[in-house]
Amino acid sequence: MVGFEPTTTCDNLLGKQMRYHCATPADALNYSTHPFLAQVSSPDYISVGTSLPTFLIFLSFPNRGVCGIISGRGVMCEATMPLCVADSKERSVKSVFNPLRALLGLFSLDIGIDLGTANTLVAIRNRGIVINEPSWVAIHKRTKQVLAIGSEAKEMVGRTPADIVAIRPLRDGVISEFDVTEKMLDYFIRKSHDGLLLSVPNPRVVVGIPSGVTEVEKRAVYDATISAGAREAYLIEEPVAAAIGANLPITEAIGSMIVDIGGGTTEVAVFSLGGMVVRRSIRVAGDEMDEDIMNYARQKYNLLIGERTAERVKMTIGSAYPLPEEKTMAMRGRNLITGLPDSVEVSSIEIREALSGSVNVIVEEIRNALDETPPELIADLMEQGIALAGGGSLLQGMAERLSEETRMHVYVAEDAMTCVARGAGKVLEDFDAFRRVLALTQRNGRVRR
Ligand code: ADP
Ligand code: MG
Repeated sequence: MVGFEPTTTCDNLLGKQMRYHCATPADALNYSTHPFLAQVSSPDYISVGTSLPTFLIFLSFPNRGVCGIISGRGVMCEATMPLCVADSKERSVKSVFNPLRALLGLFSLDIGIDLGTANTLVAIRNRGIVINEPSWVAIHKRTKQVLAIGSEAKEMVGRTPADIVAIRPLRDGVISEFDVTEKMLDYFIRKSHDGLLLSVPNPRVVVGIPSGVTEVEKRAVYDATISAGAREAYLIEEPVAAAIGANLPITEAIGSMIVDIGGGTTEVAVFSLGGMVVRRSIRVAGDEMDEDIMNYARQKYNLLIGERTAERVKMTIGSAYPLPEEKTMAMRGRNLITGLPDSVEVSSIEIREALSGSVNVIVEEIRNALDETPPELIADLMEQGIALAGGGSLLQGMAERLSEETRMHVYVAEDAMTCVARGAGKVLEDFDAFRRVLALTQRNGRVRR
């Protein structure tokens, strides 16, 4: 960008339909007094990047497209382009700006998002994970105004006054609140650009979605990503992204298996030659385990504990297989009989018992997936082993338990909680190679992959 000639760049981009004006950057930034822009009633301002000697301004208007490129050397050029007949004004403005969107692509960062039921992670191409925050949103009940997103919202869980609720819009792997999901995506996409020298908009975005989601939900994520400012949006099924992030050879003629245990869903998939040969998704994962612990505390100790306490107990002493050294910890809550605060000492053996229901369901699901796997691929899996990803796979003894149950080598992938986001990031690094594994989504009558 530094040292570019604005007039020639504009020419190349937009052909001859443009006018040039001389102006200082200060003049240009003052749109309202600019003779050209003064005709326009309500410009929908898209972006200004001011970190380089060259300024970039893009403006769009309801019935005409206008762009400006302003250089620090005081030359500004503008272009107007007639609109094609269009059915929606939003779409028509976008179509006007297509060449510019290509230009934006040079400066924006491609980002991969793991839109998890429990945590949202954002990876930037060639840069790695830049955001890792809980998928929580705090909203005002009556006005529906979003008050906090991410870590800040999670901090509020269980502590909100009556008129504020903290919710997880994707709790069970489905999008329960479209508007809230959209705001959350918007927040994370914007935040991923924070702290960069040049604040660049309109990234190309690859979003990981649970494999069980319906076409309507896929469309909802796609639309939310586009309205959050993405230039291009692609969806990838989470187990695919997790397998890529875990370095499984999914495009080769060899079977590989991933089990992604998240907050709301457990996804099991077997791959070969870039396709998913077996795919299963159940709504039993980390959240269900927290509920198991809450139920156990209530039934055994008449103790009412919060979700976050249950999660802490699970992470600290929870297990799926006997531990080399069993542990205990204090579990605090309210005694349901006395109504007073109470604390009981629980052991890892008790918590393992409490979690056994959910763990057994996951074990059963993996066995069913193996049952469906063709024998040739089973032979490959016996050699390759089964990779575990997602936060739920960090439950102590999970890999051992699954190894015992399946009589195969089961291992937790490196950095298991970031596999999906890293996988989405890798897709962006080698977009052409991975293009075909992206989930199919319909847009404007066109099939995008
Ligand atoms: P999602 O992809 O659905 O957002 P994640 O992969 O981020 O889910 O995993 C979140 C789940 O993992 C939560 O239920 C959390 O309690 C659980 N989790 C995270 N760390 C651990 C741990 N060390 N032991 C057991 N469970 C864990
Ligand atoms: Mg996940």
